[in-house]
Amino acid sequence: MAPTMQALVVVEPERFEIREVPVPEPGPNEVLARVRAVSICGTDAHLIHGDYPGFWPPAFPFIPGHEWAGEIAALGPGADRLGWKVGDRVAGTSHDACGVCQKCVEGRYNLCENYGKQGLHRQYGHNYQGADATYVVHGVKCIFRLPDALTFEQGALIDPASIALHVANRGQVRPGDAVAVTGAGAIGLLAGDAALIRGAARVIVVGRGQRLAKAAALGFETVDTAAGDPVGAVRRMTGDLGADVVLECAGVPETVAWALDMLRRGGRCAAVGIPTASAEINLQKLVLDELELVGCRASAGEMRRVIPHVEQGRMRVGEMITHRFPLSRYADAMATFNDRSSGAIKIIVAP
Ligand SMILES: [Zn+2]
Ligand SMILES: [Zn+2]
Repeated sequence: MAPTMQALVVVEPERFEIREVPVPEPGPNEVLARVRAVSICGTDAHLIHGDYPGFWPPAFPFIPGHEWAGEIAALGPGADRLGWKVGDRVAGTSHDACGVCQKCVEGRYNLCENYGKQGLHRQYGHNYQGADATYVVHGVKCIFRLPDALTFEQGALIDPASIALHVANRGQVRPGDAVAVTGAGAIGLLAGDAALIRGAARVIVVGRGQRLAKAAALGFETVDTAAGDPVGAVRRMTGDLGADVVLECAGVPETVAWALDMLRRGGRCAAVGIPTASAEINLQKLVLDELELVGCRASAGEMRRVIPHVEQGRMRVGEMITHRFPLSRYADAMATFNDRSSGAIKIIVAP
């Protein structure tokens, strides 16, 4: 194996280039994987834009990318005892948590209390080298076997699919529920599928533009925010009662407020979009209608659980892929991702 590889290196906010960098070496219970497909996430765009200074990433230069699939190229010590071998096809996810803090032992490793502490916790592509490169090292906690029937491109979308399932789980969607989803991006559309998997009777996607057209093409009911009063529209569609559950996948203050106003009495809103500004919420309504509002961070155990749903076509990740670029054209890929008129939902980059 060559000692160096190609990687996307973000030098400082809004400045990145493809560079030749050393191939990383897998440590104990880690693998080195040949990355075959990476999907661009909204978090990548924010990170490159410099929206999370000193946090994601802790420092520049930095190699992003956390939604990926590929095949194992080398094993670190101990990875074989955990069942892995060179050539295995895998899908990756980002939270490599400590495994010993109280949140980790309770299974909520996405909330690891040793987050970001060197030697204890890594979040690949956020505070540790990511997958926008020929090779990436991952701890075995963060790789999952990719079924033969799934392509690497589909595999790159298992991480966002697991997040969508986590949102529906946190929303406690029950069979027969009317569910509204605010935001028609990839997470919103996949959250619609996750709501159906949990037994929702209706899924109403609230959004606009080409993404909302995609929601309709996938068979969801839709509300166009460009037509005005999306809250009123959802309430009318639900017999003036509101949605049992709202999955908030847009992450802007306005949609968080809408989400609460769309809820039926006693309803629950699960929010996964990460706003960069604080939002005002109607606390009086929350109290008097006994609404519940919960946050959702990444996923916690849903990677393995979502794979059969992807394989059996209920979680329609392939439908999200709108564009493909080689890693060498990352600048074009990111420009397309940031251009709403491009119709981009998920863009696959191939290192
Ligand atoms: Zn992501
Ligand atoms: Zn932990």
